[in-house]
Amino acid sequence: MTELSTRLHHIIDEALLDASEIEDWGRSADYIPPLAQVDPRQAAVSVCLPDGTMVNAGESRKAFSIQSISKVFSLALAMGRYGDLLWQIVGREPSGTHFASLAALEANEGRPRNPFENAGAIATTGALLKGYEPRETLSELVRFVRDMAGDESILIDAEVARLETESGFRNTAIANFLRHNGILTEDPDRVLGTYFHQCAIEMTTRQLARAGATLAQLPCANITLGADRIQRINALMLTCGLYNESGDFAFEVGLPAKSGVGGGLLISVPYQASIAIWTPGLNAKGNPMIAIYLAKRIADEMGWSIFAKP
Ligand code: GLN
Repeated sequence: MTELSTRLHHIIDEALLDASEIEDWGRSADYIPPLAQVDPRQAAVSVCLPDGTMVNAGESRKAFSIQSISKVFSLALAMGRYGDLLWQIVGREPSGTHFASLAALEANEGRPRNPFENAGAIATTGALLKGYEPRETLSELVRFVRDMAGDESILIDAEVARLETESGFRNTAIANFLRHNGILTEDPDRVLGTYFHQCAIEMTTRQLARAGATLAQLPCANITLGADRIQRINALMLTCGLYNESGDFAFEVGLPAKSGVGGGLLISVPYQASIAIWTPGLNAKGNPMIAIYLAKRIADEMGWSIFAKP
């Protein structure tokens, strides 16, 4: 093991030990049984280093629902397909509101503020669906994630997708409102079906950290995207990746990241590391509570804030 990975191992183990002393680990997402049944007191951390070395701790082989982390992958594909035309249907400003806010959408004349709040992600998926069948868009997306992770075993949990569809009244309202405003031109139900399936992709922190190597532009990345696209995705992750907690996360941790209600947190340390953390307990803003604590510990102790002296 290299000196760097030994140090990292040590930092992660200490942080996990300290986290185990914390009483409140948040609550698992409660809107569908497969997420509600997950024990919130679990943790996994995987870090991918530039040469491909992986540092793993905790339940890093356990697959979880990536949920909104999938929005990074759909955004990357949509930016590739549409270039700057994408910004006609979605903005690039932090919303400062809950990720499924309808009021924010209405206040912005029906145009989603950014691609990571639900409205913006649904609009992005709608753009990807244009001219295709949902199964084609989903297989393109899963193909892309598998290529990034270098792992063919990544799948969608169809049961999670089905239950999301059954209970997704709020997202249905958002999609219909987007259709009303012409942001969506496709049938809202087809867009939602695709969106719920992309949210139901299951991954381990090992797979996610490996996929994130592309976003952190590590030499070991399985696929590369243009620097321009990557820089912009990271900028959006920094400003909007944790919804109305993005400012706090930038302030405390100083790294581009994307959370999901399955408890995942994907973090880029540009050119230095890709970090995936999973702690299923969420805080009041729907972000993984202990994952944020662990991210801060790792970033602080490694000096990994993007604002720190390299
Ligand atoms: N499927 C969830 C939803 O659409 C994703 C939200 C999230 O992970 N923040 O509500």
